[in-house]
Amino acid sequence: MEPDPRVNLVGRPVRQIRELLGDHVDRLYRAQQVGHWIVHRDATGFDEMTNLPLEMRRELDRRFRVADPTVLDERRSADGSVKVLFGLADGCSIEAVAMPDDGKLTLCLSSQAGCAVGCTFCVTGALGAGRNLTPDEIVGQYRVLRRGAGTVPDRVNIVFMGMGEPLLNTRHLGTALEVLGERVSPKRITVSTSGIIPGIRWLAGLDRRPKLAVSLNAPDQSRRAQLMPIATRYPLDELFEVLHAFPLERGRRITFEYVLIRAFNDAVDDARTVAKLIRGIPAKVNVIPLNEDAEHFPDLHRPDDATVDRFGATLRDAGLTVTVRWSKGLDVDAACGQLKGRHQGSSPQQRDGHLDAASSPGREE
Ligand code: SF4
Repeated sequence: MEPDPRVNLVGRPVRQIRELLGDHVDRLYRAQQVGHWIVHRDATGFDEMTNLPLEMRRELDRRFRVADPTVLDERRSADGSVKVLFGLADGCSIEAVAMPDDGKLTLCLSSQAGCAVGCTFCVTGALGAGRNLTPDEIVGQYRVLRRGAGTVPDRVNIVFMGMGEPLLNTRHLGTALEVLGERVSPKRITVSTSGIIPGIRWLAGLDRRPKLAVSLNAPDQSRRAQLMPIATRYPLDELFEVLHAFPLERGRRITFEYVLIRAFNDAVDDARTVAKLIRGIPAKVNVIPLNEDAEHFPDLHRPDDATVDRFGATLRDAGLTVTVRWSKGLDVDAACGQLKGRHQGSSPQQRDGHLDAASSPGREE
C-alpha cells in the first residue's frame, strides 16, 4: 500500500498544529480549534470537528490526516486489563496495556518497537532491538486505549513501562510528553528506565517533569550487570550519584522496581543492601516476583511467597514504602513483548523489566 503523503497531526502539541495549519484556515482561531479537537478531544478525523465550516474540513482533509496506529489484536483479561497489539505504517508492531483499577485507568505505553538493552528477564529484550517510536505513535497508543476505556483524562495515569527504553528515545519522548502533558498532569506520568544516566539527566532538566522509576533488580553492580548488560555502561555507583541529585517536587518519590529471582537476589541481606543503597532518596520500592519463562529464561525462577514476604518486610523494617506487585492480566499476555511474541510465532510467558506495567496495584505499606 502506498504511504499516505498527508501530514499527520497526531502527536503534535496544539502550538505546532496552529503553525502547520496557519496558511490553510481563514482565521487563526480555526487552527486552534483543530488543535483542541485532536489534543484535547481525541478526534479521529476532520468530520468530527463540527464547529468548523464543511468546506474547510474538506480542504484540511486533503492536506492533513488524524491517524493513530492500527489495532491488530486486542485481548481482554478477566481482571479488566486490555492489551492491544498495534501495527505501524512500516510493518513494525508494538504493544500497550490499559489497566483499570478502582475508577482509575493506568495506561502502559511503549517507546520503542523492541529493545536493545537486552535485560535477561525480559521478552522484549529477547525479541531484540527495534526503532524509536515517533510522537504520533506514542501519543496514538494513549488515544486508542483511552477512547476504548471511555475514561476521563483526570482519572488516567500513564506509565512508560511497555516495550523499549524510553530514555534512549528522548527526542520523540520529549514531544510526546509535551502533548500528553496537555491532557494529563506530569505527576500522573511515570517514565521508567533501566538506568540510562544521560537520559535521567535530560529528564531532570525538563520544566514539566514526569515521575521517575528505575529498574534496579540487584543489590550490587556485579549481579545487576548479569541481569542488565546496560549496567556495565552505567554502573550502580554513578547511577546513584545521579539519582541523589535528581530534583523531586514536594511529595514526589523515585520508584525503584525490583524483580525478585529465586536464590539470585532474594536474600534478606540483599534487601538490607538495597535499603542502604536507597537511603537518603525519597523512594518507594515495587517488589515484583518473577514470572517464570521456560522458553526464554529457563534458569530464572520465582521465589516462594514466604521469601517474597520476607524480602518486602525487611525493606519496610528499614523504613521504605514497599508494594508487592503481583501479575495482572497474564491470561492475555499482559506483559510487554508477550503478544508481539505470539504474533511472531513464539509463546513467551514472561513480562518485561519495566514490570510494574502489567502488575496489580499491589499492597502498599
Ligand atoms: S526490561 Fe525494559 S530496558 Fe530491559 S530489555 Fe526489557 S524493555 Fe528493554
